[in-house]
Amino acid sequence: MAQRQSKDQRSYRTSVVIVGTGFSGLGMAIKLKQAGIEDFIVLEKAADLGGTWRDNTYPGCACDVPSLMYSFSFEQNPNWSRMFARQGEISDYLQHCADKYRVRDHIHYGVEFTGAEYDEATQTWRVSTADGTEYVGKALVSGVGALHIPSYPELPGVQDFEGEVFHSAEWNHDFDLAGKRVAVIGTGASAIQFVPQIAKKVAKLHLFQRTPPWIQPKPDRPVPEALQRLFRRVPLVQRAARAALYWTLEARYFAVFNKHLGKLSEHLSKRYIRKAVKDPEVRAAVTPDYSMGCKRILLSSDYYPALNRSNVDLVTSGVAEVRKNSVVTGDGQEHPVDAIIYGTGFHVTDAFDHLTIVGRDGRKLQDAWRNGMEAYLGVAVSGFPNLFFLLGPNTGLGHNSVVFMIESQLNYVLSALRGICRGKVAQLDVRQSVQDDFNSEIQSELGDAVWSAGGCRSWYLDENGVNRTIWPGFTWKYWLRTRKLDPADFEITAARGR
Ligand code: NAP
Repeated sequence: MAQRQSKDQRSYRTSVVIVGTGFSGLGMAIKLKQAGIEDFIVLEKAADLGGTWRDNTYPGCACDVPSLMYSFSFEQNPNWSRMFARQGEISDYLQHCADKYRVRDHIHYGVEFTGAEYDEATQTWRVSTADGTEYVGKALVSGVGALHIPSYPELPGVQDFEGEVFHSAEWNHDFDLAGKRVAVIGTGASAIQFVPQIAKKVAKLHLFQRTPPWIQPKPDRPVPEALQRLFRRVPLVQRAARAALYWTLEARYFAVFNKHLGKLSEHLSKRYIRKAVKDPEVRAAVTPDYSMGCKRILLSSDYYPALNRSNVDLVTSGVAEVRKNSVVTGDGQEHPVDAIIYGTGFHVTDAFDHLTIVGRDGRKLQDAWRNGMEAYLGVAVSGFPNLFFLLGPNTGLGHNSVVFMIESQLNYVLSALRGICRGKVAQLDVRQSVQDDFNSEIQSELGDAVWSAGGCRSWYLDENGVNRTIWPGFTWKYWLRTRKLDPADFEITAARGR
């Protein structure tokens, strides 16, 4: 177990410091436990575990990846009640994992990671936290993900607004929306889930759309009790169903990212719009003018019907100004509102900017990433030994479950941590040439892909228009590449005496 140096020093020493308790951080902790490694600490800024599935509690919050695939392969859940699990059930699943694999005792709650500095003399990371407690570890694993820092739009005059303002990821459940006039800014993955829910309650909903998303119907329904029973009794059946689903989702890659099949998908979505949206003006406004897949494709069967409600007003003229009790659009129209809800997403390509991470020779991560964030396999950055990112650059997905990517990374990182924790390896630093070759390869694949060439602007791209978030291919290819850590990719320093 980790050692506290002294009560006053507020300093802990351990082999591995993990940051975050979402699928990534929790998964890493479980993998270490399974490998018989007990000397690690998990830092969690909140009072409970669960990451994004703890934070996002907005009405209607649910996964848009089928539940069967949205779980660890080693801990499949036969009890999912729906094809697409809702937030509470996923959060419960993570709690269950923490209990079953006994990782709770390793978690330090209320500890906010602020940065880390590599000490080359001792080959350790000195991890700093908001309350001043220091953690010293031989290795550092970031499980912070990219979708956790809410992005607030800069709306002129919003500081003078007298009503309620909150972000979808920080939902104010104490504010009763019943009978209120509400402005929702944004029509992304989160908004299309909560809009149908709140539309039923509010007096008036002004929905401010900047760019319409491509939406397909969500084939969600309850999982019959008999099927859940079968999964419980014969786990092999669930494994087979999951495998079939995995390959179906992989096939989505063709359907969306192949130009011809993409056109067919667009045609089907447009047909869905014609069927689901009654008003021709609204229909035109929600029809995207860019290629499907350029932004995340969304699934919903209740979003378009919500736009048909008489109390919902789709506004496309853009927010010009916020006044004390209203939002004014570019065309000068004033929309009186009691609350503004931001469904404006997260800081993604700049998610690490607020952290001070200093590697070898005093080099800052921000400097290493000055021209855009990149890592080898999304996991390791040259000059930052023994630091591993989970769901790091270019490992996000548009067509399958990120939990699959996380698990591939967990196995890869574990093979590095084994050597470090067992005292064989002191330092592992990915070779710059290996990292460069890898990134040239993926950027050349991404170059003319739909995310860059599809005619839209999305959070997949950084400020220079380079895709720093998406894995450009099938997930099984990523799995193949991360199945075994090749020591030749790293400069490895053996531990003394080895
Ligand atoms: P998002 O997809 O980034 O959507 C943000 C929305 O806000 C977009 O419609 C965007 O318009 C709009 N917006 C941003 N800044 C604006 C501004 N200044 N003025 C007006 N509109 C503005 O964010 P999100 O809906 O929170 O979802 C983020 C990600 O979280 C998703 O893509 C997904 O990966 C994840 N998520 C997943 C699930 C799931 O089921 N697995 C559910 C929810 C969220 P533009 O399109 O014009 O930029």
